[in-house]
Amino acid sequence: MTKGVRYGGRQKGTKNKEQVDVAGKLRAMGFDPFEAMAQLASGTAPCTGCFATGKAKSLGKGGKVVSVTCPKCLGTKKENVSHELRGNMAKELAKYVAPQLKAIEYSAPPDATLRLKNNRRELARRFAFALSLGLMDDTAVPGGSG
Ligand SMILES: [Zn+2]
Repeated sequence: MTKGVRYGGRQKGTKNKEQVDVAGKLRAMGFDPFEAMAQLASGTAPCTGCFATGKAKSLGKGGKVVSVTCPKCLGTKKENVSHELRGNMAKELAKYVAPQLKAIEYSAPPDATLRLKNNRRELARRFAFALSLGLMDDTAVPGGSG
């Protein structure tokens, strides 16, 4: 096969799988994934067992069909969503609302300790601060009270 020569494949300008209008297809179905996620997260998703009527059909005595309270939502008309799923949906939606902050790694320059050793004023300031907090025994400092 010669390099740079195309053999088969899709024609130039033809949409690939990723470019197919998925959002348009969902809109045509009347389905909004964000709305569905928000309903699950907030506990307002309609019950799929009774289509949010709160009632279900059941076989009663003598094989008669009777209307009963929906066993899935217990008449609340809302989908019974676990706390775990609610949390996951909220977490997913949050990604679209607020930017996720990255962890920042900090490392001191290699000569940081050396610079501090050579900076007597800074060293003295840090000792004084530690002493003021009672973090050090002042008897251990040369010229201290001990
Ligand atoms: Zn129900």
